[in-house]
Amino acid sequence: MSDDKYSKYEVVVGLEVHAQLSTHSKMYCGDSAEFGGSPNTHVSVLSLGHPGTLPMVNEKAIEYAVKIGLATSCNIRYENQFARKNYFYADLPKGYQITQDKTPICTGGFINVETNGVKTKINLTRIHMEEDAGKSIHDIDPYFTLVDLNRAGVPLIEIVSEPDVRSGDEAMAYLNEIQKLVRYLGICDGNMEEGSMRCDANISVRLKGATALNPRSEVKNMNSMRNVKRAIEFEFIRQIDALEAGEKMVQETRGFDAVKGVTLSQRSKEHAHDYRYFPEPDLPPVYVTDEYIANVKTHMPKLPNQLKQEYMDVFGLPEYDARIITDEKEMAEYFNRLLAETKNYKAASNWILGPVKNSLNEHGIVIKDFKVSPSSIAKLIEMIDEGKTNFSVASSQIFPVLVETGKDPLKIAEELNLLQSSDEGMIAGLIDEVIAKYPEKVAEYRSGKKGLLGLFVGEVMKLSKGKADPKLTNKLVAEKLETT
Ligand code: MN
Repeated sequence: MSDDKYSKYEVVVGLEVHAQLSTHSKMYCGDSAEFGGSPNTHVSVLSLGHPGTLPMVNEKAIEYAVKIGLATSCNIRYENQFARKNYFYADLPKGYQITQDKTPICTGGFINVETNGVKTKINLTRIHMEEDAGKSIHDIDPYFTLVDLNRAGVPLIEIVSEPDVRSGDEAMAYLNEIQKLVRYLGICDGNMEEGSMRCDANISVRLKGATALNPRSEVKNMNSMRNVKRAIEFEFIRQIDALEAGEKMVQETRGFDAVKGVTLSQRSKEHAHDYRYFPEPDLPPVYVTDEYIANVKTHMPKLPNQLKQEYMDVFGLPEYDARIITDEKEMAEYFNRLLAETKNYKAASNWILGPVKNSLNEHGIVIKDFKVSPSSIAKLIEMIDEGKTNFSVASSQIFPVLVETGKDPLKIAEELNLLQSSDEGMIAGLIDEVIAKYPEKVAEYRSGKKGLLGLFVGEVMKLSKGKADPKLTNKLVAEKLETT
């Protein structure tokens, strides 16, 4: 069977993620690191590395690198050297990139991921600091390539994993965790489409059970999680086909064509760069002390996994709810404010996962731009808990008006005449009416067809125009039918 050849193999993937740090200035000089701007306006002689200029290390970038290192349980290095990685390219004005070679600021560490309910640990080799290159633009001028150097020198961290990833889905889960972490830490906006997070995947295949690694493809510069998954899945098939056809695998650099969904060879190992790394002579080492690390630690926000555990342990939420809410930092912040206003934690999470998320989707906005305050949601929960309304009426009739007008939920309910009645006398009257209307059904109920209870309750609700408290109605109908 031809399909069978694939099931004997496993894919082995290591990921390199470049994340642009959201500092104000560049990695080694004071030029603006802001995204955008007219081409070549964030560029001084320092960004260009003109002779006689001297780089300086951006202290904020060190702090951010330490933060991501602590968040991923890395060892933080005390003595940090920088190195020159030499290569010639139009968007690299200095002719070299200042990076870290032998002394990455973070080593070891790991990121836990969950894929289809299975939890795995992806170990990290290193996280180092470096600078970005400029941008070559090939699609504006028909004859020339244009160069924008605004990005040249913008600080990056490069997060390098061990070859621990075993599927495209696992790679996506890993990237998603990194994106969450950098966003919670506030060190990078995590937008892959805009290029502030980019991923290279080193992909090889081997027979299941084997321990040696085969030569790998290095698929460069992917700017969506989905494309990383697609590239891995494409390479899995391509490499197995090649191996089974007796081809000799070579290490090579490939690019991913997102339109065709294929990877294409760019260069093989024989043409690999020799970067001639050597210590950057213009930068002294940066020393990080235990005291400094401890200080950074005290300024770290709660991380998504910590927060998720807290929602489960302290507030008794199911893991599913806790995960969805902590997926996005701003959502968790909104939820925290809601938790401060209600004791009904499960109802709070139901409101977030249901009506609130639906409303955001419907209006195409994010929680940051949501006009309804957490205290209004808390008020709705309170009204339901007090029997003034029920979830169905609150979510389908009061909430939409709340979203539009921002008015007090109780006022809205009053104005729309939606308040539920807990007036036992009124409800009892309606129950009598219904019982008189269905004598046969009453007899059936009494002879054992208890399922008919819903019919009576439904009729009473209808007569009350939906205003009878359904819980109370249920109770009163059952009592009435048992006793008379
Ligand atoms: Mn790099």
